[in-house]
Amino acid sequence: MFRFGEDKPKEECGVFGIYAPDQEVARLTYYGLYALQHRGQESAGIATSDGRGIMLHKGMGLVSEVFSDSIVEGLKGKMAIGHVRYSTTGSSLLANAQPLVVHYQKGMMALAHNGNLTNALELREELGKNGAVFQTTIDSEVIINLITRYRRDSLEDALVKTMMDLRGAYALVILAEDKLFGIRDPHGVRPLCIGLMGDHYCLASESCALDTVGAVFVRDVEPGEIIVIDEDGLHSRQGLTKTAHTACAFEYIYFARPDSTMDQLNVSESRRQMGIELARECPIEADLVIAVPDSGTASALGYATALGIPFGEGLIKNRYVGRTFIQPTQAMREVGVRLKLNANTSVLKDKRVVMIDDSIVRGTTSSKLVEMVKNAGAKEVHFLISSPPVAYPCYYGIDTAEREKLIANQLDIEGIRKFVGADSLHYISEEGLLRALGTSDVCLACFNGVYPIPLSSLNQSKNNFELRNSCG
Ligand code: SF4
Repeated sequence: MFRFGEDKPKEECGVFGIYAPDQEVARLTYYGLYALQHRGQESAGIATSDGRGIMLHKGMGLVSEVFSDSIVEGLKGKMAIGHVRYSTTGSSLLANAQPLVVHYQKGMMALAHNGNLTNALELREELGKNGAVFQTTIDSEVIINLITRYRRDSLEDALVKTMMDLRGAYALVILAEDKLFGIRDPHGVRPLCIGLMGDHYCLASESCALDTVGAVFVRDVEPGEIIVIDEDGLHSRQGLTKTAHTACAFEYIYFARPDSTMDQLNVSESRRQMGIELARECPIEADLVIAVPDSGTASALGYATALGIPFGEGLIKNRYVGRTFIQPTQAMREVGVRLKLNANTSVLKDKRVVMIDDSIVRGTTSSKLVEMVKNAGAKEVHFLISSPPVAYPCYYGIDTAEREKLIANQLDIEGIRKFVGADSLHYISEEGLLRALGTSDVCLACFNGVYPIPLSSLNQSKNNFELRNSCG
């Protein structure tokens, strides 16, 4: 079954956490999740704690579909964590929704995870041999199992030992023992930041969620750091030594909201710089620059400004089409693209057009967009992409599809140009992308196949379903 938006990498998950005894923590978490909705639309959940017991509500669908006012009202506590999740199709989807809650020797614990472990299968097998029983197919359950395995240690020591066992990408928020914890893997692949609302601390995948709840940005959680928030305020402990910081480059290219700032880089500004780099690498004599909205917009503006070419709204987005809209037949797929985006004929007619998008994954949507723009009267369509070709799958929490379905893995640039039907095609170079980001502390594995965190043989040999379905 084809799902609308299948031609893009899928968002992973979003997490939020807050410690605020005199506030409605569930409601604030609800608003935080609303701001992170772009990171996952298939399930949402909130767990609250009064320090003794944990209350949980989670369900399939958007935040607005999962929570009614009375449900939010009923979730009491002095601290909360929340999660929005993207997953591929599969069984037991509700069981895989987060936060996960467990009872263990020391009480109750709730955990929400963004990312993907590369050694989850080995850890699951090892835990299974020691009698662990799993109720979900997600690697977050492996993490919570490991933490409880170290129950003789203090919770903080148990978290450090768990981090020593884990390999891969993880940004975690955890409620346990009257405390809220935030943890980021030693490579800092997935984002996590700290905010302050009055004198209450909160944690979020992206700073846009802090803005939404009225918190000010304090700082990013450092790679390998454990943040502890309790009645004494905020404490930090370096759980594992920070290795080379390799934040996901795709967060800046496509996933994150443009108004977010992650690891000192504003997403919108990064995208504008990508457009400027594209202008440097591939200046085209054109009458008009257009974007594939929304993630291509800032790059298109950067390109247009750098070359002094007018920017126009050549493609108009229907904001009321959900990303998970399902179209079962080929004919309906065609309608699906037109439902989401429509060409603005009065802007495009008789123009030589530069069209900027963030990425090409399978190429199917791109070819329809080029055709749409040409049918609207454009004389030429030059297609510029603000990411390098996506030729390798992601094992760190992004669903990029299997390798053989990635068009850049099957065709060279000229082959892709012919496939999408553009007059010319240019991808930003890796060097150009790094210049735009102003750092080389990023993961580029889906572009160059250099995986900064080792992959296990099990991960590579198994069907990607488990990996894709284990996000969060
Ligand atoms: S492989 Fe690509 S999508 Fe995955 S973390 Fe690295 S840059 Fe991000």
